[in-house]
Amino acid sequence: MQNLKEFERPQSLDEAVEKISAKPGRRLLAGGTGLSITDSKTTIGLVDLKSVGLDYIEDDSDAIKIGATAVMRALEESSLLQNYAGGLLADVAAEVGTTPLRNMITAGGNITQLRVWSDLPAPLLALDAEILVTDQEGETTYPAQKFFHRHPSQLLDDTDIVTEIQLPRGIENYSSSYTKFVAVDDSYAVTSVSVVLDMEGDTVKDVRIGVGSASPSPARCPEAEEELVDAELNESLAEKVGEICRANVNTTDNVWGSGDYKSKLIEKLVKKNLLQAKTS
Ligand SMILES: Cc1cc2nc3c(=O)[nH]c(=O)nc-3n(C[C@H](O)[C@H](O)[C@H](O)COP(=O)(O)OP(=O)(O)OC[C@H]3O[C@@H](n4cnc5c(N)ncnc54)[C@H](O)[C@@H]3O)c2cc1C
Repeated sequence: MQNLKEFERPQSLDEAVEKISAKPGRRLLAGGTGLSITDSKTTIGLVDLKSVGLDYIEDDSDAIKIGATAVMRALEESSLLQNYAGGLLADVAAEVGTTPLRNMITAGGNITQLRVWSDLPAPLLALDAEILVTDQEGETTYPAQKFFHRHPSQLLDDTDIVTEIQLPRGIENYSSSYTKFVAVDDSYAVTSVSVVLDMEGDTVKDVRIGVGSASPSPARCPEAEEELVDAELNESLAEKVGEICRANVNTTDNVWGSGDYKSKLIEKLVKKNLLQAKTS
C-alpha cells in the first residue's frame, strides 16, 4: 500500500459509514491479516473498525449474533457457540490458522475477503446463517446462500460494511461434525466438510452439508440432503450420500490439491462426518 496516506479510527458504526463513504480509495481494516498481504496501489486511506463496537457474541431472542469484528479466538472460546448446533462454529474457529492469527482474524474479514481457504463460509452455509450489511442507505440482510453465491465483492460495494452474522433459532440442539482436511498442521484447508444433523432415533429429520475449499465458493449438497431426509442413516446410506455430494460440487485445482483429489475427499469426509454427527 505504497500510496496509503490516511488512517481513521471511528468510534461508532455511523461514523465508520461516514468515513468509508467520504472519499474513494478508502478501505476497511479489521484484523489486517488479509490486507497485510494485499498489494493495492489504489488504497489511500484505512478506516479501522476496531472501536466501533462490533466485537460481540450475543444471545438474542431471535438469533445468536456475532459482531463482524469478533475474532476467531472469541468464537472458539464462546460458550454460546460451543452449545449451538453441536459447537460447530467454535470447532471451526479453533482450526483457523495459529493462535496469534486467531487473535487477529475477524469473522467479518473472513467472510468478506472470501478466499478458497476461508474456513467460516461453508459452515455458515450449513447453518443457514444470515449476514447483515450496512451502508449510507441503511441495513440489508443476506441469507448465506445469497452472500456466498458468487464472491461477496460482486455483491458488496467498497463502502458496504458487514456488521453482523446471525445464527437462526430452532437448530441449537442439532448435532454436528466438522473436518478440515489439511496437508500439514495449522495450514489452509485442502477441503472441509461440515454436517449439521437432526435425528429422531435412526431417522434423519433435517440435515445440512457444507463443503469448503474444494471450489472458489463454498457449496451445499442439496441432492444429498434430500436423499437423507426421512431415511434411516446407516453406513451404506452415508456412503451413497457421499457419492451424491461429490457429484454436486464442481471442484477446482489449486496448490493444495487437484480437483479430482478434492472430489474423493468430499465423498469420504461426507460419509465420515454424517456417521460422527449421528453418534455425537
Ligand atoms: C498466515 C495466514 C494464515 C491464515 N490461515 C487461515 C486459515 O487457516 N483459515 C482461514 O479461514 N483464514 C486464514 N487466514 C486469514 C484469511 O486469509 C484472511 O486474511 C482473513 O480472513 C481476513 O480477515 P481480517 O479480519 O484479517 O480482515 P482484513 O485483513 O482486515 O480485511 C480483509 C478484507 O476484508 C475487508 N473487510 C474486513 N472486514 C470487513 C467488514 N466488516 N465489512 C466489509 N469489509 C470488510 C477489508 O477492507 C479487506 O479488503 C490466514 C491468514 C494468514 C496471514
